Amino acid sequence: MSEIPIPLFVPNLTGNAAQYVNECIKTNYVSSIGPFVDRFEKEFSAHVNSRYAVATASGTAAIHLAMRLAGVGPGDEVFVPTLTFIASANPIVYEKAIPVFVDAEAETWNLDPDLVLEELNRRAKTGSKQPKAIEVVHILGHPAKLEALVDTCKRFGIIIIEDAAEAAGGRYISGMLAGRHVGTVGHIGCFSFNGNKIITTGGGGMLVTDQEDLARRAKHLSTQAKRPGVDYQHDEVGYNYRLTNLAAALGVAQLEQLNDFIEKKRQIAARYNKAFKSIEGITLPPNSSWAFATFWLYSICIDPAEFGCDYLTLLNHLSSKGIETRPIWSPLHTQPMYRDAKFLGSGVAEALASCALSLPCSVGLGLEEQERVIHEILSVRATK
Ligand SMILES: *Cc1c(COP(=O)(O)O)cnc(C)c1O
Repeated sequence: MSEIPIPLFVPNLTGNAAQYVNECIKTNYVSSIGPFVDRFEKEFSAHVNSRYAVATASGTAAIHLAMRLAGVGPGDEVFVPTLTFIASANPIVYEKAIPVFVDAEAETWNLDPDLVLEELNRRAKTGSKQPKAIEVVHILGHPAKLEALVDTCKRFGIIIIEDAAEAAGGRYISGMLAGRHVGTVGHIGCFSFNGNKIITTGGGGMLVTDQEDLARRAKHLSTQAKRPGVDYQHDEVGYNYRLTNLAAALGVAQLEQLNDFIEKKRQIAARYNKAFKSIEGITLPPNSSWAFATFWLYSICIDPAEFGCDYLTLLNHLSSKGIETRPIWSPLHTQPMYRDAKFLGSGVAEALASCALSLPCSVGLGLEEQERVIHEILSVRATK
C-alpha cells in the first residue's frame, strides 16, 4: 500500500472545541453539572426547534429514557425498523418489552410506513392489542417517511419515538412536515454524538421533546432520580445517564459547525453522485425531493451482475488500496438474539444490506482523496 490511507469517517474537532474544553479544565467543571451542559441543551433545542432538550451520556441512553417516558414495559410491543444499528432496538428489551421488526422501503431505506399502517389497521379490525410505541429511525442522515404515521398513531394512542441518532440537521422540506427537523415530529426524539456521528462529544446524546413533563422526567431519570435537596432521596429507579460538562463543551463547539459540516457532506455527496450517476451497477443513495438529507454516510448499492463484482469484493479491493469502506448493518431480525422476533415485511432490508457500501465521507475529505476513491471504484468496474 503506497498511498496514504483514506478512512471512512473521522471527526472534525476544529472551531472552538479546544477552547471550550479548556474552559472546563480551568474552572474544574468537568462532571455532569456545569454551564456547558445547560448551554448545549438550550442551543440544541433552538437548532432543531424543539421546546426541550435533555443531554445524555449516549444516544442509546436517550433511546432507553424514551422507552421509559413512553411507558414501555413488560409485554408491550414496540415497532422498530430492521435496517438500523442495534442500539435502536436493544433499549426496548431493557424494559422487557417486545420488538416487532419492520422492513425497509426502497425510496429512503427507512421503515416502510405502509407495512406499519396495514398492521395497525388489521389489529384495530380484529381488536388486537396495539403496540405501545413506534420507533422511527432516520438512517444514514435521510429523513424517514413519517407523515403517513402521525394521524394513525394519534388515533390509536401510540407514542412515536424518533431515533435521529444519524440524522442531526436533517429535515422535511415539503408536505405536511415542511420545515420540521427530524426528531421533533414524534413525541420524543433521540440524537447521538458518538465519535462516528456528524457532530460528536466523544460519547453523548440528546433527548428532545415539546412536552415539559417528559423533559423533566427525562432529566430526573438521567440523574439517578434524585430529588432536590442535600440528602439522598430517590423516588424511582433512575440511571447515571447525564452528559458531562467536558463532553457538552465539545458539543457546543460542534453544534456551531453543524450547518457547515452538512454543507460539506452534501458537496461530497454531489461529487460522488456526478461520478456514479451513469455507471451501470451502481445505485445512488436515497435523496428524496421532499427531504433535506445530511449524507452522514454516503452509501451506494452495488449490483454484482451489472458492476462485475459484489459489494464485499469491492470493499476488499478498496481496502487493498488503503481506502476504508463499510457495509451497512445486517438486518436486526437476523441477529441471533432477535431471530425469533416478529418481522413485518418481505426482504427489502436484506436486499439493501447485501449491496450497500458506505464510502469515505469525512467532513475534511479532500478533493484529491475523493478523486482517488472514485478512480479506484471505476477501475474495478472497467476490469469487469
Ligand atoms: C449511533 C446510533 C445509536 C446509538 O448512539 P450511541 O451514542 O452510540 O449510544 C442509536 N441508533 C442509531 C441509528 C445509531 O446510529
